[in-house]
Amino acid sequence: MDGTYSQNDLSHVVEADKAHVWHHLIQHKPFESKDPNIIVEGRGMRVWNQAGKEHLDAVSGGVWTVNVGYGRERIARAVYDQLMRLNYFAGAAGSVPGALFAERLIEKMPGLSRVYYCNSGSEANEKAFKMVRQIAHKRYGGKKNKILFRDRDYHGTTIACLSAGGQDERNAQYGPFTPGFVRVPHCLEYRAADQGAPTEHYGEWAADQIEQVILAEGPDTIGALCLEPVTAGGGVIVPPEGYWQKVQEIVRKYDILLHIDEVVCGVGRTGTWFGYQHYGVEPDFVTMAKGVASGYAAIACCVTNERVFEMFKDDADDPMNYFRDISTFGGCTAGPAAALENLAIIEEENLLENTTAMGDYMLGRLDELAGKHAVIGHTRGKGLFLGAELVADRETRAPAPEKQVQAVVADCMGQGVIIGATNRSVPGYNNTLCFSPALIATKDDIDHIVTAVDGALKRVFG
Ligand code: PMP
Repeated sequence: MDGTYSQNDLSHVVEADKAHVWHHLIQHKPFESKDPNIIVEGRGMRVWNQAGKEHLDAVSGGVWTVNVGYGRERIARAVYDQLMRLNYFAGAAGSVPGALFAERLIEKMPGLSRVYYCNSGSEANEKAFKMVRQIAHKRYGGKKNKILFRDRDYHGTTIACLSAGGQDERNAQYGPFTPGFVRVPHCLEYRAADQGAPTEHYGEWAADQIEQVILAEGPDTIGALCLEPVTAGGGVIVPPEGYWQKVQEIVRKYDILLHIDEVVCGVGRTGTWFGYQHYGVEPDFVTMAKGVASGYAAIACCVTNERVFEMFKDDADDPMNYFRDISTFGGCTAGPAAALENLAIIEEENLLENTTAMGDYMLGRLDELAGKHAVIGHTRGKGLFLGAELVADRETRAPAPEKQVQAVVADCMGQGVIIGATNRSVPGYNNTLCFSPALIATKDDIDHIVTAVDGALKRVFG
């Protein structure tokens, strides 16, 4: 650590935190007898906590966010310069970095044309939901308003996003939910037998399940289908072969708008700019947040094609006929200023290529581990977005108990390596170890992570 804080300063920080901070996603009772972890500094792939302990971060800030790694001076400088020039003006006016980042982003997204700024993944998804609803009112007498979402996908924390949430443990106790969201089955091939699916052509079968739901609900009631390209918190679910092609056919057939939630996959995580670009699909909406500025500033975008945008531009004399929405902090200029530098770093350092190469390497190393540890039932991934599903029995594929999965995560933490696991999302299936190192990861970093997991699996499962 750089010595900015004395041990006294940090002891005070811990006490202040314990007294007043309500941390995300955690039960606080244990903090009555132990200290919370406070991350003080970060450089590259590494962070240091209040005890000065170094950790290799295999989850990019915990939730797939810090794609270009910590301590990027050029992003900090660009944000500083922008804040001194102009920190904020509401988004009904444009801004210099807002215009320039939109232009650079759209270059990476053929077929799409408009960027709507806001400040979290949930909010970006809500913007798309609102656009779909308004289109239903404008074009279809309000009827084509339902939004399909998929089992095990997650789209955010607000009540409407949870209403589109396929992770039952996250949703429990937060109802009642918003009407008009309809669930379709997941597409995790490893769990096909649990769905009673055929062993061949699983991808087409899984896409076909979406069509069945559309037919049951009535195609004239369905406005949009919202999917993660590769499901993140639901267990790192890489879609099966043939799936996306069929999904694209289905949405075209029934005139359903396709909304792809790239909050995790977006901006390089899977080795392409966006996850959907692996599958040749043509979305109407793409939402993104985490990796857009790698967490150097809060920024999220709801990107649409011109077809969607035009629907809000016609009938300009009608005072109701525009997208009547605002995001106060969508007018912050720090976000697009940071995002411009983030994008330039990914290009100049060839991080997409690195992500593909290191992702393949890491998947190979996880497969080696599976050869040693019967508890690894399945490994999967796309780029530097990987999972290892732990099972109590390879034959039956019964999930490993959540407590043991968490013990593996804790053991790695003890070794100074931060990994993740599906966290209280899908009942009975919180059994996948998750890895999402920064896109700058080297073979040495990956070997370090895999060695830690190897040791942890030995200690927890024998
Ligand atoms: N979509 C996906 C796929 C996510 O994983 C998340 C957050 N984990 C969100 C949306 C919500 O993003 P935020 O927390 O920024 O609201």
